[in-house]
Amino acid sequence: MLDKVVIANRGEIALRILRACKELGIKTVAIHSQADRELMHVRLADEAVCIGPAPSPKSYLNIPSIISAAEVTDAVGIHPGYGFLAENADFAEQVERSGFVFIGPKADTIRLMGDKVSAIEAMKAAGVPTVPGSDGALPDDNDAVYKIGARIGYPVIIKAAAGGGGRGMRVVHSEASLINAIHVTKSEAAAAFGDDTVYMEKYLENPRHVEVQVLADGQGNAIHLYDRDCSMQRRHQKVVEEAPAPMLDPEARAQVLKSCVDACIEIGYRGAGTFEFLYEDGRFYFIEMNTRVQVEHPVTEMITGVDIVKEQLRIASGMPLSFKQEDIKVQGHAFECRINAEDPKTFLPSPGTVKHFHAPGGNGVRVDSHLYSGYTVPPNYDSLIAKLITHAEDRETALTRMRNALDEMVIDGIRSNIALQQQITNDSRFQQGGVNIHYLEKKLGL
Ligand code: ADP
Repeated sequence: MLDKVVIANRGEIALRILRACKELGIKTVAIHSQADRELMHVRLADEAVCIGPAPSPKSYLNIPSIISAAEVTDAVGIHPGYGFLAENADFAEQVERSGFVFIGPKADTIRLMGDKVSAIEAMKAAGVPTVPGSDGALPDDNDAVYKIGARIGYPVIIKAAAGGGGRGMRVVHSEASLINAIHVTKSEAAAAFGDDTVYMEKYLENPRHVEVQVLADGQGNAIHLYDRDCSMQRRHQKVVEEAPAPMLDPEARAQVLKSCVDACIEIGYRGAGTFEFLYEDGRFYFIEMNTRVQVEHPVTEMITGVDIVKEQLRIASGMPLSFKQEDIKVQGHAFECRINAEDPKTFLPSPGTVKHFHAPGGNGVRVDSHLYSGYTVPPNYDSLIAKLITHAEDRETALTRMRNALDEMVIDGIRSNIALQQQITNDSRFQQGGVNIHYLEKKLGL
């Protein structure tokens, strides 16, 4: 087992990683910015190193500082969490070149999946169902592009190969606006990602977002931990997640779960990962793979009993998977509500000091949060302050538990989206299950 791990992240996920390390007897190093001295996990870690000022480019994105922190503390591994450098292949490479273990896939795998064009190609080759599309980057020749559009059929979506975070995409409804849309997306992509490669996909009008969690040890073993539905989104940001994804076509589901495991073996995947799909009319369409632990991993942990972060640490220590596919059974249903420090109506961030924090509790209630009374949420980072997770024997009970837990939760001093989450969990259509990715924005009148 790794002896000592640097937690290269902040907030709730840093605390989540710290807890997993402690259970495995791994010593921990918290690295933090000057704005994050008061973070809960910084207090609980064996060692703490301040790596720079508040702005993330100078701290959480500063690769030399992070590697130096590992160096001076004699750490063995570096866990990137999610966001920041978690999917930066250069970071993974530099970590390994400096003699440390990157707790995630190989740099080449991150690179392959970070370029959506190469990711889709690899997935197609491995038998994962993809969205009908341009089969590679769009050519410069207008006539060739028109032909691709006509073959796919409108509406289509132009997407940046290097895109992420819901940026670098444009829907095109007819041939008349195609060339202009490609030009605009290309220049946006060049500015935002330094790469103007774009590709074309069929635009699915009313899909759900369904994703598959996988674990692979890089030694030839891979398993899936079933699926999650993350269709409740605002501006492509997930707001509520659940596992398993309700009301899927059983045959299509079984097939897609198997194809994800096969793909892991095929590409020599190592670590935890997520295959993201759009699901429409009983069919799955791969859109991208995330090569890291995700915000919503707890719903999967609740229904499978597998500790995903501990598995990441075991795999990075060179151990084979602790589970076989037949050990993994779906037990009940789980929901996660993301609690953000933001105005529930305007969605503007609301940093500041938490005067009073009360976490809900009881059977089947889990709170992953770094908040405590008196903690000041800095303005510099993502507004996620807590994840409220509930688990029960069936979907309806898990949702009732979530409504009760939201009623119990108290965050005074700053604004939060608890009221929005109450509105969502009281919505009768959401309660039925299976809403599509546009439902929340339509409900909110956006
Ligand atoms: P990012 O990496 O920026 O998150 P994704 O490829 O995962 O980009 O797409 C983000 C979201 O954009 C999807 O969850 C979905 O809402 C929408 N989207 C992407 N591709 C399509 C498509 N072919 N048809 C319809 N919606 C799409």
